[in-house]
Amino acid sequence: MSTSEMNQQLWNEQLQGLIAKKLEQRRKTEELAAQFEEEKEILGRYEALSMILMHDRLWQNQHDPGKSAPAYSFLSGTFVPVCVKELLTPEDQQRLAEKGYPRVIQFADVQKHECPNCHSSLPVIQEYEQTEDSPDGDEWRKRFYVACVDCCGVYKVFEDQERDSRF
Ligand SMILES: [Zn+2]
Repeated sequence: MSTSEMNQQLWNEQLQGLIAKKLEQRRKTEELAAQFEEEKEILGRYEALSMILMHDRLWQNQHDPGKSAPAYSFLSGTFVPVCVKELLTPEDQQRLAEKGYPRVIQFADVQKHECPNCHSSLPVIQEYEQTEDSPDGDEWRKRFYVACVDCCGVYKVFEDQERDSRF
């Protein structure tokens, strides 16, 4: 083998090594990107569900709903905050019964609105919060959302409502 042939072979080997390294890098990048997409999707689902599942943010579990943190609830057909029977533990049901709490309804009867993205019918979630607390005046706000697990999204569905006192 001549010197130039040997140089050529060495160069080829180096080039092949470089290509293999690049391919491996690309494979790792694609793997990471796929993993990231999956994680993003899982995160979206959690975000949608956390609004419903955060125990201390549920309207029925707050001492003074909306005063120190937003309170979330489902709504009746007439937009009254309600507890959903199927989502209550036996202890919850007991506690609410002791309080004489009347607004417990079946999940099938809660106020629904379609997902703006996939148009499936979803329960409306109300967010209720005091947004101003000052001598010059208070402000209380209601916001309305649907949380779609299929679309991994939380969407506002009605105009916000604001009043200068509890409503
Ligand atoms: Zn949807």
